Amino acid sequence: MQTTRVETKEHEEVWRVSDPDTGLTGFIAIHSTRLGPAAGGLRMRPYASEAEALEDALRLSRGMTFKNAAADLPLGGGKAVIIGDPARDKTPDLLRAMGRAVDGLKGRYWTAEDMGMTTQDMAIIAEVTPYVAGRADAPHGSGDPSPVTARGVFNAIRRAARHRLGVENLNGLTVSVQGLGNVGWHLCALLHGDGADLAVSDIDPTRVGHAVAEWSALAVAPEEIHSIAAQIFAPCAIGGILNERTIPELAAEVVAGAANNQLATPQDGDRLHQRGILYAPDFVANGGGIINVAAEILGIEDRETWVAQKLDALDRTMEAILSAAEAENVSPNAIAERIVAERMARAAA
Ligand code: NAD
Repeated sequence: MQTTRVETKEHEEVWRVSDPDTGLTGFIAIHSTRLGPAAGGLRMRPYASEAEALEDALRLSRGMTFKNAAADLPLGGGKAVIIGDPARDKTPDLLRAMGRAVDGLKGRYWTAEDMGMTTQDMAIIAEVTPYVAGRADAPHGSGDPSPVTARGVFNAIRRAARHRLGVENLNGLTVSVQGLGNVGWHLCALLHGDGADLAVSDIDPTRVGHAVAEWSALAVAPEEIHSIAAQIFAPCAIGGILNERTIPELAAEVVAGAANNQLATPQDGDRLHQRGILYAPDFVANGGGIINVAAEILGIEDRETWVAQKLDALDRTMEAILSAAEAENVSPNAIAERIVAERMARAAA
């Protein structure tokens, strides 16, 4: 196995990892350890090139610095990527090779499950390194983070709805949900339980069919979900959904969801604000997942109580962000970034 340092401007440490014996090529990016050891998932995708994989690792690890700081966790931002098709190229030996590369960083980076990975894969990586979380098989294992992520997103939706629509619950409101995967599905159950009407979309028609049967949800075509008549839009599928083209077409007054990197560019946060749409910043709204993983990394004994307290604190942070955005008449995203910068500066002092 070979690890080669990649020089970048903003990140603390970036490594190219390769192992011809197992077909592994990937990157580990540590954006910041100012708040603690870097933590962030391992993603496997059939990237078109090494440059694309590196770019993803750099962008996602920076995002983890923001997410961990927003959730007030003693963790920095990191991410790892493997180039390949998980269905075809993922083998136990390849995973162990990546695990050895993670181990070589001696705890400066903790890995976990992300796209293309499962809790079983984390158990294989754990054979060669202790710096892995998101396990279902270990005593402090946190398992699937999606239900906690969904709970955090649900709290964010309620907060934003209270600010923009002046309501205490979602009774009688329509929420359009893009993506009925792990998080989207749990979120729909919570929204339905709070009295919301659901409009749903997924590129997998089976999932849509289940949501229609389960909650009498309205099925919407993927290209129309952002623009249908709904008070709240919850993106829970892909990044970049809030952009120059879609923002003028939005019908909702509130946007809050689980997807990472919902804004295509930083200017899109201002675009939403100018249109009078209240956007709950994604890296705050979806922090429940990393809170769940952090309990495992930090070896918390009473994880249920700790996770609940951290989710409450995240909810208070969202409240502070939305209140400040209202008072200063700026986008919540700008305020959220400022809060993160302040937390980082305090840690550096
Ligand atoms: P997932 O892969 O389980 O679900 C994604 C769903 O979106 C799938 O059902 C897929 O078919 C659907 N989809 C893909 N493209 C679509 C499109 N164009 N229109 C409609 N549906 C589409 O993923 P997940 O774990 O539910 O995560 C959802 C999002 O939230 C991702 O962006 C993820 O990075 C982010 N996120 C997840 C967690 C977590 O705990 N799982 C935590 C933080 C952030």
